[in-house]
Amino acid sequence: METLLDIQDLKIHFSTERGLVRAVEGVDLSLNKGQVLGVVGESGSGKTVTSLSILNLLPRTAKISGKIMFQGKNLLEKTEKQMEKIRGNNISMIFQEPMTSLNPVYTIGEQIKEVYRYHTNLKDNDMDKKVLEMLELVKIPDAKQRMKEYPHQMSGGIRQRVMIAMSLACDPEVLIADEPTTALDVTVQGQILALIRELQEKLNTAVLLITHDLGVVAQVTDQVAVMYAGQVVEYNDTVELFKQPKHPYTKGLISTIPRLDEDQEELQEIEGMVPDMKTELHGCHFYSRCQEAMDKCADNKPELTNQNGSLVRCFLYEGSEQSCPNH
Ligand code: SF4
Repeated sequence: METLLDIQDLKIHFSTERGLVRAVEGVDLSLNKGQVLGVVGESGSGKTVTSLSILNLLPRTAKISGKIMFQGKNLLEKTEKQMEKIRGNNISMIFQEPMTSLNPVYTIGEQIKEVYRYHTNLKDNDMDKKVLEMLELVKIPDAKQRMKEYPHQMSGGIRQRVMIAMSLACDPEVLIADEPTTALDVTVQGQILALIRELQEKLNTAVLLITHDLGVVAQVTDQVAVMYAGQVVEYNDTVELFKQPKHPYTKGLISTIPRLDEDQEELQEIEGMVPDMKTELHGCHFYSRCQEAMDKCADNKPELTNQNGSLVRCFLYEGSEQSCPNH
């Protein structure tokens, strides 16, 4: 399968007044054509910072090393002008809260048209036709009328559909969706996830789905990378990951998903907090919360190893690894 995006040994540090924050500590991820890859983790895991780095949207205080290869070129070496062309045209992004991305003073028709104006040489009439097509593609009812409306006249679900239409307008190879359903009601969440999956299959777009919610991952992804405190701790096919989670953190996350077939009095949660990334960690990043921690975990860093096709970063599997695939 063709690899579209290949992130290699990505490290992202921020200089802050209170010290250096090590937000991402050597992440490797690869996204293939037509695939949906979920990146899941709590806040502070580095998942959003990783996704923003792909489009060079991080603040200037970020120090980035490693490679983000897209179509054979390292995006970290592109100029801002080159990145402006790539954003929206080749790689686009949708965010959690569409209201912050949409301009309140323009109709949604005008805003989608602006994407075509920037990236294509289409004539005005053709742009209008394209806008209508995109709104129909994302199943917005009465699309012709909706084109003339402003964001505040729409529900959160419709606004997110508009954002999806806008992000897919130029037929990008990669769509990054950062918590695309978090701000929506549960029923609308399901509809938006189903729409993303349907469009991904129809257009063969590769999707990088960033979420804190394993339930979302289960619904739409082919593969999943679990991130914890700036590192990928487990990476596997989604079905396999749910069937046989290996890393203690993944097991903990899965145990927090409420089950309909069990009478649970209280929601489960993983005890403890994500470590302070301003402190340099010398051992396993999950050590302070791990139920299975051993003495060696305090002062030694586990590497990602291949366990029957799944990649796991944990000493519990030391000695049973096979040779690692590319990522
Ligand atoms: Fe737990 Fe040790 Fe594995 Fe880290 S390396 S997850 S502390 S058992």
